[in-house]
Amino acid sequence: MSPTSSPAPSPASSLTAARRARELTGLAAGEQVDVLVVGLGATGAGAALDAASRGLSVAAIDAHDLAFGTSRWSSKLIHGGLRYLASGQLDVAYESAVERGVLMERTAPHLVRAQPFVLPLTPLVSRGQAALAWSGFRAGDALRLSARTARATLPAPRRLSAVETRHLAPSLRTAGLRGGLLSWDGQLADDARLVTAIARTAAAHGARVLTRVRALSLSGSGALVRDELTGEEHTIRARAVVNASGVWAGGLVDGVRLRPSRGTHLVLRCEGLGGPPAGLHIPVPGESNRFVLVLPQGDGRVYVGLTDEPVDGAVPDVPEVPETDIGFLLDVLGTALDVPVHRDDVVGAFAGLRPLLDTSADGSGRTADISRKHAVLTSAEGVVTVVGGKLTTYRRMAQDAVDAAVTAGGLGAGPCRTTSLPLVGAAAPHVLTGLRAPRRLVQRYGTEAPAVHALGAKDPALREPVVAGHPVTRAELVWAVRHEGALDAGDLLDRRTRVGLVPADREAALKAAEEALSGA
Ligand SMILES: Cc1cc2nc3c(=O)[nH]c(=O)nc-3n(C[C@H](O)[C@H](O)[C@H](O)COP(=O)(O)OP(=O)(O)OC[C@H]3O[C@@H](n4cnc5c(N)ncnc54)[C@H](O)[C@@H]3O)c2cc1C
Repeated sequence: MSPTSSPAPSPASSLTAARRARELTGLAAGEQVDVLVVGLGATGAGAALDAASRGLSVAAIDAHDLAFGTSRWSSKLIHGGLRYLASGQLDVAYESAVERGVLMERTAPHLVRAQPFVLPLTPLVSRGQAALAWSGFRAGDALRLSARTARATLPAPRRLSAVETRHLAPSLRTAGLRGGLLSWDGQLADDARLVTAIARTAAAHGARVLTRVRALSLSGSGALVRDELTGEEHTIRARAVVNASGVWAGGLVDGVRLRPSRGTHLVLRCEGLGGPPAGLHIPVPGESNRFVLVLPQGDGRVYVGLTDEPVDGAVPDVPEVPETDIGFLLDVLGTALDVPVHRDDVVGAFAGLRPLLDTSADGSGRTADISRKHAVLTSAEGVVTVVGGKLTTYRRMAQDAVDAAVTAGGLGAGPCRTTSLPLVGAAAPHVLTGLRAPRRLVQRYGTEAPAVHALGAKDPALREPVVAGHPVTRAELVWAVRHEGALDAGDLLDRRTRVGLVPADREAALKAAEEALSGA
């Protein structure tokens, strides 16, 4: 088959309402699986893929949808762990750098691209701070090399003149600008799309991927679950159970103590910031190793984040964004930009809760200082909980969790294969470049992009954007219903696409979502 043709997706990787109903019925009737995974964020979807690709039978459930939790609220960076290097966590930094290389070069080159970032040397950045940041970027590049990620994948950092800096970030204030520092990191087309690709790859290896199924209680031999569509309760029998429910993990397994920390991002329209080609690291005044990130998305939107605030009390389904977070981010933005960005320019905002493991005796201490290292804990009952970590390291977290599940359940399984297992849509860069489909679709669907695009050839109405001013087309919604397990308008607008990050756009797109659901 030529690389430019548009193959239909393998039915094995397609998630549909009918498949969900069929597989859930089998499990309710008493079929036993080797591994039950609870939670379909990056970690749980990764565990389902890891286990299924080792030859184990797998069921993976989520109370809501793929990527319903923290995994869709990230900064969408696949990062090399520079920040951990600065705080002396060499092992965490190295692991991040290795996993970044795996994603960019082997498993998901379609979803992760190299993104340039500029750290502008404004009068607020002292020469000492600039020297420190520069040595950090050099160390980050050495980490890239030690992780064996090619220079062609992530270019070297370099110093920029003031003119070059303004070219890459046209909205910067020129007064007193001495130049900038250019560095590179991995940026995801979208975090929820990564989770969808992982989950569909797991399904292609035989995993039963079931959304709207809530675990009510867990044991080492399965779970009591509720089908959230019908309200029916039944058990799922399993030889081993992995709890990958993120910030909710402590509610299912006694003794897992989390210290959630809220991170907020703003959504701005690109034109307000002069359509920046590069991201920005804007130093937070008064702090030595903290930056506000400006993250261009390539869809007319820019995200600005992020905060790090400890959160107490019950964990909400969708975290609220307090005005104080918005004010903080706008204030830091104002220290570097020439263009005023007001509260009215904020067209959307989102917050996520980091599932940080509380290792302190009394739950004290800044959440920014808690290690981002992941942990795998096996309870007395034999339930394996995997928490902490980050999106970038989901694969390694999944590997460690499945290793523990294999031990806990006494399972016979092959070795982990996921470092070289391409996700649905992945291909070498030259194959992706040769695909006959718009670039934006290739960056979201990889080798499936021509098939998504072809929907519009059959029905030109499907080439229409779902909302004026945003590139998502009706074809993408139909594709999500037919192949990506989208069951309602929220799945379509808030996770398979991110139209919903701007509430006004979401409202305007609802009709198109309903039409895709009824007509697909
Ligand atoms: C603001 C912010 C920015 C971040 N930025 C980055 C970044 O740029 N790069 C990076 O690498 N990392 C980043 N991270 C970290 C990363 O997003 C998280 O570590 C990661 O997404 C956690 O994934 P998870 O699968 O463990 O949890 P989640 O994504 O939260 O998944 C847990 C799932 O479990 C489900 N669930 C809960 N209870 C039940 C139940 N009883 N039954 C069934 N299902 C259940 C939920 O619905 C949810 O879908 C960021 C985090 C935050 C908060």
